[in-house]
Amino acid sequence: MSYPPIIEARHASLTYHTRRGPITAIDDVSLAIAPGECVAILGRSGSGKSTLLALLGGLCAPTAGEVCFADRPWRSRTQRETIGIRASKIGILLQDGALLPGLRALDNVLLPAALAGKPRGSLVTRAEELLKLVGLADRWDAYPAELSGGQQRRVALARALAAEPAVILADEPTGDLDALAAAEIAAILARVRAHHPTAIVLVTHDPALAAIADRRLWMERGRCTALNDAAAPPLPPVAVVPAMLELSGAAVFEPPPPDLSPLRPAIGEGSLARSWLPFLGGLAVSAAAIALFDGLIARKQDVVVHAVRAERRLAEEMAMQDLRADIDDVVVDVDGKATVTAYLQNFRPERPLHVLGPALEVGVQRDGRWDTVSIELDKPATPIRTIGSDKTLVPLTFSVPEEKYDELLQGYLHVRIGAAMVVSDRPDGTGDLFERLDAYYIYLRDPRRTEDDVRRANGWGDKATVPLWIAMPSH
Ligand code: ADP
Ligand code: MG
Repeated sequence: MSYPPIIEARHASLTYHTRRGPITAIDDVSLAIAPGECVAILGRSGSGKSTLLALLGGLCAPTAGEVCFADRPWRSRTQRETIGIRASKIGILLQDGALLPGLRALDNVLLPAALAGKPRGSLVTRAEELLKLVGLADRWDAYPAELSGGQQRRVALARALAAEPAVILADEPTGDLDALAAAEIAAILARVRAHHPTAIVLVTHDPALAAIADRRLWMERGRCTALNDAAAPPLPPVAVVPAMLELSGAAVFEPPPPDLSPLRPAIGEGSLARSWLPFLGGLAVSAAAIALFDGLIARKQDVVVHAVRAERRLAEEMAMQDLRADIDDVVVDVDGKATVTAYLQNFRPERPLHVLGPALEVGVQRDGRWDTVSIELDKPATPIRTIGSDKTLVPLTFSVPEEKYDELLQGYLHVRIGAAMVVSDRPDGTGDLFERLDAYYIYLRDPRRTEDDVRRANGWGDKATVPLWIAMPSH
């Protein structure tokens, strides 16, 4: 090998201590990944592939031997250094994609690069390029739930590439996809290989994906050997990998739906990134911020970054329990303009809470589905709100679409208000970041109808109160 390896395991072992005794997940593995090299790791479920990937990425430490990144053992690096490397040099791709549900595709892609301290100006352009690479340039503003499984995986891949990592660690990136969606991922990875000097370590059951690698390894009972093609499941020669791998550009992907309006990415209304960018711009790589991503990985792999655990728990408790968010008041004027005021309140004011956002979204129900309506928002002086024991009010205004009253309750409109916010315990964002997603449901009375009329329409008694709005429990 002409270059020193980018990642190297030297006689690494990892034993999990379980209630019924030790499990040796990794048993004396020595493995060197050269810069730009693509290595596929195959093996049966439980053979240690995910654990090996976590070891290579420094997400957990070997119980014997060592694992080096750029010729230095992970264990000799400070936590800050480790996290900095993981943020800027390693792209991690998991089977479930682990996208943040409250962020649009574009924001999901640019967030790690922003956290890694990449210059702000170029982030959106870079995220656009990456979405183009994965064939989703036209869906930049879609939320994860609006994308198919394969498309979500492609966004996750774009995100893994965002910081221009030296290594991509991918754990069964096509595991639960159908053959065509899997071939799309394979095509993108092959394209990445062709154009970027990124090393790729791929854990996969998929022979078509394994076929793009320079070499294939076989894991069995924690031991890793060069794949003996005679003993292992046969791999197809590269020639029979689907025509998808012909890197012919646009033809690889399903074309975007023809009726989409040609809106270009901008960090605009409703975008959390808008408020994040100034916040993140001054942010040196933050241990705890990256823990957001480690947290997603840890959830899957059950490997936890121990040092930040206790602090994280406290911050999470703050974000989820101490921060009260709800609807304060609703007013509808005769022209059908509704002003909904949400509030944020800190129930443990001795611990300050800082909130980015909330990004608010309003939907009204028609024919059993939710139509999004456009809203006007008061812009705060700074994107970050410090929340104390007094209510912080966040008003928003929207025009009520008249024809949508009477869907469930006569004379009332069923409205859902979605709030996405990022909560931190430090004003500069160097603490843990938690994403919190809330939904509030209310019924809004049609201001044009009299109380009597609404009572009659619903068969209510003469004395029944007819409130201007009714808060509903979450559903
Ligand atoms: P693979 O990814 O090849 O399916 P893993 O690396 O997830 O395998 O697991 C390797 C072995 O280690 C398995 O026997 C698994 O049950 C065990 N294992 C994985 N994670 C843990 C854990 N956190 N605690 C105890 N045992 C674990
Ligand atoms: Mg696994």
